[in-house]
Amino acid sequence: NHIRVDIGTWQSFDQTLKQNYAHQLHLLTLLTQDLKNDALYFEIQPQVCLTSRKIIGGEVLLRWKNSQLGMVSPGEFIPLAEQAGLICKLTDFVIFRVFKWAAQHPELLLERTLSINISALDMLHEGFATKVIALQQYYQIPASQLVMEVTETSIFENSHVVFDNVNRLHKAGFKLSIDDFGVGYSSMQNLIALQTNELKIDRFFVAQSLTDKSSAILCRNMIQLSSEMNISSVAEGIENEEVALQLEQWRCLIGQGYHLYRPMPCDDYLSLLRS
Ligand code: C2E
Ligand code: MG
Ligand code: MG
Ligand code: MG
Repeated sequence: NHIRVDIGTWQSFDQTLKQNYAHQLHLLTLLTQDLKNDALYFEIQPQVCLTSRKIIGGEVLLRWKNSQLGMVSPGEFIPLAEQAGLICKLTDFVIFRVFKWAAQHPELLLERTLSINISALDMLHEGFATKVIALQQYYQIPASQLVMEVTETSIFENSHVVFDNVNRLHKAGFKLSIDDFGVGYSSMQNLIALQTNELKIDRFFVAQSLTDKSSAILCRNMIQLSSEMNISSVAEGIENEEVALQLEQWRCLIGQGYHLYRPMPCDDYLSLLRS
């Protein structure tokens, strides 16, 4: 009896795996096609100074609206693109479109920053920085206002290619930000080795900072650590005023989250900056 149950469970598990795999392949096929269409675009989520509540910049977030599937979240298609070796094409697309947009609207980078998410895999590509810098120079946009957000992974360890890319980007004036800091793989050594300019405190800690003592301690100390190292800290995922006030009190300078602003269409962001 037990064995039968087990086999049954296994068969349904196996079935699910096959269905998932087919679904992922389907997604990838559509994504590859849509890279040539207008189905990929981006939204901007403003970042604010927690004291003045003024907008100090924005984060570019990729969006995919497929004619068949509707909206697919980046949480789903980015990891898939990474696994399938499609991520570099996506990054090229984002960087090209964002730089072009910034060149058309100089006010975007006028005393404000624009943060772009890049995959750790991009950093492993020889020539990544050179390509980005060439594009930045072509569009004549200020590198000092451009922030590259990257989530740390273990592949960063002792990779000469990564350090070479980071060095080139720094020399050209770009800022480097470590995204989702504190969850998953984080290495304190990388704060030095990557010459980090900014830490984004993961929303997991931010969300619980008022209710969970350990999260509060970690938040407070990540802010202090970055401040003493001359690294700016950004709290992501601020969902209510109490959390915003708490983080401000802990001297976190920059905040981002649904309570402050939701991600919005590019044109709305431009109007917001003008108002
Ligand atoms: P991320 O870089 O950590 O971006 C922040 C995510 O948190 C965004 O989700 C944003 O919409 C969401 N968020 C912002 N405020 C709040 C809040 O108050 N509460 C909650 N619960 N969520 C909030 P999104 O747009 O779905 O993006 C998910 C992830 O996908 C990003 O996480 C980033 O890792 C990746 N991603 C997005 N765009 C790109 C891109 O152009 N390139 C790459 N490589 N990755 C991207
Ligand atoms: Mg990010
Ligand atoms: Mg991320
Ligand atoms: Mg993040």
